[in-house]
Order: sequence, then C-alpha cells, then structure tokens
Amino acid sequence: MLKRSTTGKSLSAAEKRLWSAAQVTAFVAALAVIAGLLVYPDWTLRLAWFGVVPLLPASFLINAGLWRGLCPIATANTLGAQDGGRILHGKTLQILLVVGMMLLIVLIAGRRLVLNTQGPVLAGLLLAIVAAAFVLGRVFRSKAGFCNSLCPVLPVEKLYGQSPLLYVRNPRCVPCDLCSTDGCLDIDPVRAVAPKTRPLDWMKTPFGLFSVAFPGVILGYFLTSDYPAAGAAALATSIFGGGLASLVLLGAGTALVSTVFHLPVRKVVATLGALSIGTYYWFAAPASVAAFGGADLLGTVLRAALMALVSVWLVVAIRRAA
Ligand code: SF4
Repeated sequence: MLKRSTTGKSLSAAEKRLWSAAQVTAFVAALAVIAGLLVYPDWTLRLAWFGVVPLLPASFLINAGLWRGLCPIATANTLGAQDGGRILHGKTLQILLVVGMMLLIVLIAGRRLVLNTQGPVLAGLLLAIVAAAFVLGRVFRSKAGFCNSLCPVLPVEKLYGQSPLLYVRNPRCVPCDLCSTDGCLDIDPVRAVAPKTRPLDWMKTPFGLFSVAFPGVILGYFLTSDYPAAGAAALATSIFGGGLASLVLLGAGTALVSTVFHLPVRKVVATLGALSIGTYYWFAAPASVAAFGGADLLGTVLRAALMALVSVWLVVAIRRAA
C-alpha cells in the first residue's frame, strides 16, 4: 500500500502568502471572465481566446508548474480535496488519462463549432468544469480526480512541459500526497511523458499516439473556420482528419527516423512537442495580434519571437536528452 510521502520541504510563510494571493486572484479573474462571457460575450471571447489562452503553451515551455500552481480549476479541485480521498493509479488512471486526451481534441473541435463564438455556452462549460473538478476533489485524493487525470489541458502541459526552462516550486502538494504518482508531471516531467522505453514502443502508448496525432489536429484547426462559415462536417473533417493524417504520416516518419538514427525516446517526444507548439504559434501569434487590431508586422515579429522560444526550448530539451 502506498504511504504518504514526508519528503518535500514546506513552503516558507512568504511563499505561501504569495501563491495564495496569486491563486485567489486567478480564481476571481476566472469568475470575472465567466461573468464577462455572459454580459459582454464578444469582447470577453476575444480576450479569452486571443489574449489569455495563447499565453498558456509558452508558459508550459518555461514551466507547466506555473499554470498548475495558479489554475483556478486546480484550485477548485484542491479545495474539494479531503483527507482519505481515493488515490488513482494503474488501469483506472490510464483510462482517465485517455479520456482527458480525447476531451482535449473534442474541445478543440468544439471551439470551431460553438465555443469561439457563443459566450454563454463557454461560460456554462467553464462552470461545469469547475464544479466537476470540485466534486472529483471530494472523491479522489489531492489532484488525482481531475488535474492529474481527466483534465483536458494535462496532455499539453505534459507535451510542452516535459523539459522546463526554469525551476518552479510546486505549491499545491507539499509534501506529495501520493494521489496519482504514476507519471505525475509535478514529480518528474520527463517520466510523465517518456518512460524508459524504445521510441517504437512509446509510440504505441496512448500518450505516444496523442503526441504523433496532435500536430495534425492543430493544423486542421487552423485550416478551417468557425461554424457556420465552415459546415460542421467540414470542420470535423479538418480537425479529426488532420489528426488521423498526422497519426499515419508523422507516425511513419517518426518511426523511420527514430529507428534509422537510433534516437532515444526523449529526443523524439521533445521534437514532437516542438512541432505541435510551433504549429500552434505559427498561426496563433498573428491571429492574436490581428484580433486586437495590431499591424501585420507586429504579428510577424511575435511569430518570430515565439518560434525562437520554441527553438531554444527544443535545443535545451534535446541536450538534456543526450
Ligand atoms: S505531487 Fe503529484 S502525486 Fe503528489 S500529491 Fe501532487 S499531484 Fe498528487
């Protein structure tokens, strides 16, 4: 039976105050966004999708723990947590992780279908997710029921947070509560994405399949439009078809290159992560600038800066993997 860890130094009083203030601020900001989606939907949707959300992937490159420490949904999850909650591991955890990956891809398609344009629908979804995270916190220990299993953001936190550029202290689990230790991102970002195995074996795991399919999902998202400009079938084909094409083509290419060059799995995962986030910012950077009326040149500069960040991150990740 797992025992609770006693390792991990407690946060100082100043660190606790700082994190608590930041968490309360983030939670209040999230409530304000939800209210804004109901009262000023157009403006708030623009702020959310073109201002706030695009910051997250870059923050994961720096350290996914930054967002995991602040995230209002994680705050709801840990507020609900109580002593004696169930731990998650083994097959149940693996199934919930797969559900989280599928939820992410469905939500990406949902953005095009309704979430990019209908503020009240997005507000309702966010409220439902916050409530679900709280309830799951009552049942499962610490972050096991949501943040470390079902959360649809977790797959990208793992993919982009596998080789953090900076150290950030995990403020929520001190000491670790052993809630879901199989591949916990907060304990070991490398082991969370790439257990010691051969690339071909890793690619057959759920996270391996997701990592290979995800660049195509992102490309498919940006190559289509919001409903109804694009019909429901067309946008589903672009996003899900993009994922499928990526799974087959990028999967075959990755298998070939990793076999011929005897690449270690960590290099493969880092390259796939860089490909996904690079594809995302190629489109998202100019789109964000344009959404707030910025000049095309500014969009190009922002895109170049983010490509530089992704390149630096990839070089660091590859070096660490050597
Ligand atoms: S560090 Fe990971 S396993 Fe430990 S309590 Fe936090 S989320 Fe759970």
